[in-house]
Amino acid sequence: NEGTGTWPHRRARLSSDKTAITFRGRATTYRELDDRVTRLAHALRSLGVGRGDRVALLSTNHPAYLETLFAAGLLRAIFVPLNARLTAPEVDYAMRDSGATVLVHSRELGEMARSAAGEATRVVLDAPDPDAPGYEELIASADQSRIDEPVSHDDPCFIMYTSGTTGRPKGVVLTHGNIVFSVMNAVIDLDLDSHEAALVCAPLFHTAALDFVALPTLLKGGNVVVEEGFEPGRILQVLERECITYTFGVPTMFDALSAHPAWETTDLSAIRRVVVAAAPVPPRTLRTYTERGIKICQGYGLTETGPGALILTPDDVERKLGTAGVPHFFTDVRIVDADGREAAPGERGEIQICGPNVMREYWNRPDATADTFADGRWLRSGDVGVADAHGFVAVVDRLKDLIISGGENIYPAEVEAAILEMPGVTGCAVFGVPHEKWGEVGCAAVALEDGHELDHTQLAEFLAPRLAKYKIPRSLVVVDEIPRNATGKIRKDLLRRQFA
Ligand code: AMP
Ligand code: MG
Ligand code: MG
Repeated sequence: NEGTGTWPHRRARLSSDKTAITFRGRATTYRELDDRVTRLAHALRSLGVGRGDRVALLSTNHPAYLETLFAAGLLRAIFVPLNARLTAPEVDYAMRDSGATVLVHSRELGEMARSAAGEATRVVLDAPDPDAPGYEELIASADQSRIDEPVSHDDPCFIMYTSGTTGRPKGVVLTHGNIVFSVMNAVIDLDLDSHEAALVCAPLFHTAALDFVALPTLLKGGNVVVEEGFEPGRILQVLERECITYTFGVPTMFDALSAHPAWETTDLSAIRRVVVAAAPVPPRTLRTYTERGIKICQGYGLTETGPGALILTPDDVERKLGTAGVPHFFTDVRIVDADGREAAPGERGEIQICGPNVMREYWNRPDATADTFADGRWLRSGDVGVADAHGFVAVVDRLKDLIISGGENIYPAEVEAAILEMPGVTGCAVFGVPHEKWGEVGCAAVALEDGHELDHTQLAEFLAPRLAKYKIPRSLVVVDEIPRNATGKIRKDLLRRQFA
């Protein structure tokens, strides 16, 4: 059985009494994790889940993300982690697109889950619900006999939704093989060992927290400390108290920690390295951490690459600070210029990625899949990089129309489509402007019919039920006309320059 679902069992054989997961002050050993995952798989099976079926999860960070991923894997079913920051229509879309038949969710998100579940069976975490089974109750009453379905590296392990330039989110399918190689890349290149205490404070519905922190740590037999949210003061306490050796965050998170009054007095000496990625990394962030003696490794990648593509290893942090390093051990990266030729050192080009960690396809989207690969196998990132003479790549620009705000992606097309639904709006362009805290924030330029008026409050109120909060533009400018070039393409460069 090549599936990742067997990992808790394999690990329990090696280190049964070690702590696997720490959550809300409670430790779960590897033996307990193995037992819970086996029972959960039986419980899911009793809800009708079998080979190829999809099991969705909607919650803030919770060990259920890991248990459900493993349990679905044991059944050869596919796990679908959903972004807890989305609105009901967005969750609804992912539920329908994936065709999930079970939705595990937290009590807090119950209202959203109820409206998005459709025909799917709901399972509620933590608290009893009169009309849905409880997660703990299901586990407690389930069978504990071993499940032994044959699972191969080619079987899908999970589907993670990511927006795209067309605005319609796509499900990135990552196979068990993709996960194995992503996790091996992290273990090898970050030199993870069995003594890690790894902090998961980034969302588990994104690949990095899952494939780059939690799963590699569990593979090695370390302790995964799961925090529900990101509150800087609390995270600093956890870093000290749990002697955290490793964590991942987006630049905004690292900046929030170092800006907190307790930063100076917190003991961070257990940290062996941290990884920062998902958005351009400000030099000041890197400086603040290296001056504190912390090895801050910049990574680069996409959900589609599982996510790691490039990594600046702990050994190279001082020497090559500011770059995203070299390709991960099992992964290859090339920089391709506008003519489709491989760029020479020092020349800009698109970063393209190939390797066993790279997704094979988007869920039910063969056209989008075909468009994403160059020469059938190199994933086009839509990002611009420059390699130095030693092959260290700096990520310098973006070709695609994407805004990254606090590490979350905002695709302007999706926001523009929502704004165009507003009465009186005749044209709209959403673009990113630099922001000290969030890296970038969205700004909307809107053209109106004669006699119509619009202010930012009205815009935000209209979008609130339609789009996740982080996607709602922070500012609004009303323009006479949306600037376009000769072929009708919106001149976002002009807007950005004018309104930055
Ligand atoms: P996602 O699908 O959410 O993982 O987003 C992937 C995108 O995040 C990439 O295509 C990049 O635009 C951006 N990204 C990830 N890492 C970095 C980095 N180190 N520097 C700049 N942008 C990054
Ligand atoms: Mg993406
Ligand atoms: Mg991201």
